[in-house]
Amino acid sequence: MLETTIVGSLPKPAWLSDPASPLRAPWRLEGDQLHEAQHDAVRLSLIEQEEAGLDIVCDAEMRRRHYIWGFLEGLTNIDTDKLGQRKGYRGARYGESAQVPRITGEVLHPAPVFEEAVRFARAHTSKPVKVTLPGPMTVWDSTLDEHYGWDEKTAALHFAAILNEEALALQAAGADVIQFDEPTFNIYTDKVQDWGIEVLERAMQGVTAKKCVHICYGYGVEGVLAWKTKNTEWGHYGVTLPLLAKSSIDQVSVECAASGVDVSVLAALQGKDVLLGVIDVGTEQVETPELVAERIRAALPYVSPDHLYPCTDCGMVPRSRAAAMGKMRALTAGAAIVRRELGGK
Ligand code: ZN
Repeated sequence: MLETTIVGSLPKPAWLSDPASPLRAPWRLEGDQLHEAQHDAVRLSLIEQEEAGLDIVCDAEMRRRHYIWGFLEGLTNIDTDKLGQRKGYRGARYGESAQVPRITGEVLHPAPVFEEAVRFARAHTSKPVKVTLPGPMTVWDSTLDEHYGWDEKTAALHFAAILNEEALALQAAGADVIQFDEPTFNIYTDKVQDWGIEVLERAMQGVTAKKCVHICYGYGVEGVLAWKTKNTEWGHYGVTLPLLAKSSIDQVSVECAASGVDVSVLAALQGKDVLLGVIDVGTEQVETPELVAERIRAALPYVSPDHLYPCTDCGMVPRSRAAAMGKMRALTAGAAIVRRELGGK
């Protein structure tokens, strides 16, 4: 019980990419040297996760410049260099529009994008391996269609079919958990109800690995933190969690450390695994194990310990490596406190 994991990303070493630009991650190397450096970074991140005591590990997204673009770069006719301006990106939460990759022609999935990444991680740890993919609604919201003229559901379904091929390939390569990241699920709650769950289920069709969805309030970066500080409406989970409870998804990752979310909403997920965010990813300050334990205890009235997975709120790619390491250690130490209290080891 109380197995620990992180949402997905960890900060990249400075020799791999400039830490001043964590979400764009311009590579410092190219070709074979870059490939080798990414291998090295994954090995290091696996060692760090194991040293911190995490129960479920991942490749920390060391091979991706960005969690969405890293996948889109493996598809045809999506331009992640010359970006386009998308109006209403993320419901205009962070501004009227944002720069996103452009769809310039037929989008195909010629080969699995992260198959080698999963094989490599699988070969270098004995722990269960999780892999993350952007969810189909989030991909729709993060691209500019200059080719198809699709309506939003058709676009998301196209990406869902592609993501499903990818998920099945990653499962075959050894992934124990496949997690779809859907930040849009707490923005477009009406669309989630109308077609979002259906499209997410399409992306997970036939997957027998643990099927997880991460619903977050964004990375701990400036624009997101500015919105979060001002936000007073935290009721989105109240809409999405009951919908997910009825779906075939096994695990739901929710952000509860830094947001103002009332954790009683987790009661809606009875029977599902809950990845409970107990680490604030928007600050360099490392939580004490006691604070982490307190956050875990707060969820216990609503989630049974065998379904509760203490986790970070979101990816830690914008943090310093020292803070990320400290936070992972605090996460496992806090979980250990509560495990002892519950009579476990
Ligand atoms: Zn997140």
